Amino acid sequence: MASSIGGKDARKIKGGGAGGAKASSFGTVAGHSASVTYVSMLGLLLFCPPFVIVLWYTLVHGHGAVSSFWDLAQAKGFQALVEIWPRPTLTACKIIAAFGLFEAFLLLALPGKKFIGPVSPSGNRPVYKANGMAAYVTTLLVYTAMWRFGWFNPALVYDHLGEIFSTLIFGSIVFCVLLYIKGHVAPSSSDSGSTGNFIADFYWGMELYPRIGSSFDIKTFTNCRFGMMSWAVLAITYCIKQHELYGKVSDSMLVSTCLMLVYITKFFWWESGYWCTMDIAHDRAGFYICWGCLVWVPSVYTSPALYLVRHPNELGTQLALAILVAGLACIYINYDCDRQRQHFRSTNGKCTIWGKAPGKIEATYVTEKGETKKSLLLTSGWWGLARHFHYVPEISAAFFWSVPALFEHFLPYFYVVFLTILLLDRAVRDDQRCRTKYKKFWDLYCREVPYKVLPGVY
Ligand code: NDP
Repeated sequence: MASSIGGKDARKIKGGGAGGAKASSFGTVAGHSASVTYVSMLGLLLFCPPFVIVLWYTLVHGHGAVSSFWDLAQAKGFQALVEIWPRPTLTACKIIAAFGLFEAFLLLALPGKKFIGPVSPSGNRPVYKANGMAAYVTTLLVYTAMWRFGWFNPALVYDHLGEIFSTLIFGSIVFCVLLYIKGHVAPSSSDSGSTGNFIADFYWGMELYPRIGSSFDIKTFTNCRFGMMSWAVLAITYCIKQHELYGKVSDSMLVSTCLMLVYITKFFWWESGYWCTMDIAHDRAGFYICWGCLVWVPSVYTSPALYLVRHPNELGTQLALAILVAGLACIYINYDCDRQRQHFRSTNGKCTIWGKAPGKIEATYVTEKGETKKSLLLTSGWWGLARHFHYVPEISAAFFWSVPALFEHFLPYFYVVFLTILLLDRAVRDDQRCRTKYKKFWDLYCREVPYKVLPGVY
């Protein structure tokens, strides 16, 4: 769900494993050599921060045309990047700090039911307070009320967006360095450890569940309350800016924003389910996930709507409604896939899927401690169509909130292309991880459900 700026499950820690115990040396990415691992990590570390600035510049100042920055780069070389890169400012720091502190306060202060996360590789079970939906509603109400009563003009955020992204880029790198140091000197649980390689530790992270005290869960903050929340806040901001510029909000912007907000609402509605997914249960807190959620989500995930601010296409009621309905259907199917799997697991398979008893495989696996555990694999419903069918509606929904930009430029579709590559790669990695975990039971599942993502095709 949240940002992913590289392949997952990629680190291998000798003697530990993902999220596991103390480690001794840096291994290889699943399926890749050590040199490919280094090149991809260093490439993403170096490429992602400038890309965020180039994307912002092109969408805001270059009318979304890739040639606008390309021409500049051809004329000035590296200097072009230096010239367009806004310097961090005090205003940007204040906006980010106000938002971050408000979200941290809501995370700690709002009431919520206790939720116990899945068993970690070291046998721990993290405990959460499920108050994501309350934080989401509070944030949107407070933000729109501040605008409505004239206390704060959200258009300011758009006007300072370059500085905000620049400040986030550098601030989040510092944040990741602090996480790295914390992982070495004060890890929160036994689900931590070093690969012995600085770059890998910084990139993938040192800890699976870093916390401040017992209740401030850092990954919940970065992934959900900062990353996903900023996506919603920025989507509203872009509508307000378009209204300020043109005196109204175009139907293209309304459709795109509406779909994004429904998707994000679904995310917070289902936040405790997210605590059981790969982002939280398998990926450690490092540059890859934390920088990704603090910077990549607000900048890249919001980019189709950022383009629309100054390109208010009028789609007409029929086309706008058709896109809206198609997008809503995709979001619902994606939600239903996740819900089906969770419901099946939580009822121990004693449920109905599409009106029938579920098809299932009773699998066993051996934990790092050598204990044999049981798990259930669903082989009917959405999970009987393909092993990662849920990525199809995820990608399609992203397409539908991008398509109001129409087809003049490629850049509003960058997010869809990025997401497609990310999820196809993720499907391969998850298959590898599950095959290692479930062995012959996974092979049995693959025989029963032969397609990875798209039934009949792949
Ligand atoms: P999930 O965590 O939902 O699913 C994969 C896991 O589910 C597997 O590792 C396995 O874990 C278990 N599993 C696999 N097959 C079965 C089965 N047949 N029956 C029961 N359990 C099974 O994957 P993701 O984290 O990738 O996706 C979660 C949601 O986040 C999706 O909606 C996805 O679209 C979305 N997403 C969005 C992204 C974005 O950037 N927009 C990025 C990534 C995901 P176990 O070890 O428990 O068996």
